[in-house]
Amino acid sequence: MEIVIGKTAGFCFGVENAVKKTSKLLDENNSMFCLGELVHNKQVTKELENKGLNIVEDIEQANKNIIIRAHGAEKQTYINAKNIGLNVIDLTCPKVLKIHQIAEEYINKGYYIFLIGNKKHPEIIGTISYCGNNSYIIENEEDIKKALQDLYSSNIKKVVVLSQTTFSIDKFNKMIRVINEELKNKNIELEIKRTICDATRLRQEETKEISSNVEMMIIIGGKHSSNTNKLYEIAKSNCKNSILIETSKELDLEQMKKYKKIGIMASASTPKKSIESVVEILNKLC
Ligand code: SF4
Repeated sequence: MEIVIGKTAGFCFGVENAVKKTSKLLDENNSMFCLGELVHNKQVTKELENKGLNIVEDIEQANKNIIIRAHGAEKQTYINAKNIGLNVIDLTCPKVLKIHQIAEEYINKGYYIFLIGNKKHPEIIGTISYCGNNSYIIENEEDIKKALQDLYSSNIKKVVVLSQTTFSIDKFNKMIRVINEELKNKNIELEIKRTICDATRLRQEETKEISSNVEMMIIIGGKHSSNTNKLYEIAKSNCKNSILIETSKELDLEQMKKYKKIGIMASASTPKKSIESVVEILNKLC
């Protein structure tokens, strides 16, 4: 059996930074508070909770300090935290902060903002709070129509498109084609900012490449993680024997024995340990 492991599999620099800094803080303090899961991975979350991390859904539940995770938070959260005297430890990834900056810059220049992403994802909930009133979240083609209606009724003649850092590149490109087509001959200036981060892009490209050349593809990552699910969707579209697992315990060894070439990829929030344990099991099967 041949095993192909994605070179980009595992933590991106934003997640690595957030996990390392939180772990260090927990070594120095008895307990810390984090607004929502630090990263979308149960194994990482459990490990940090065992070290004393308290995950809270509201900053009011925190005591003395609050960690803002890699995918950021709403603008108001920082104000509220300050008002109740919390020490904010901001671990928002620079790639996400950059999108917040672009949003504010384009509001000041009088643009309408189309924000492409998953409406319920914490990063989008955070980013839209930097986009002002003249903005719309686009998750699917139906939303494009609604966003265009809102743009036309605002009478604004300039629109900028931003996206969630972990959005699917293929879906983003498809949406851009539709928006371009709709705005043709409308006398509205369109500016596209490709804010899907490199970590996401490289993992999606590599998943596409590996899954097109193997008999079975294993994606490792949190089942509630946006970037993991995107990788799984890509893998499935190229390799029908694709599976999504969180840990090696979910592997069906009998099923895997049937294949001569298996690919492995892991999302940006999957720890090295989870990847190594899958590789170890496959090596034993070889
Ligand atoms: S996926 Fe991209 S934006 Fe998110 S933490 Fe990693 S590098 Fe930063």
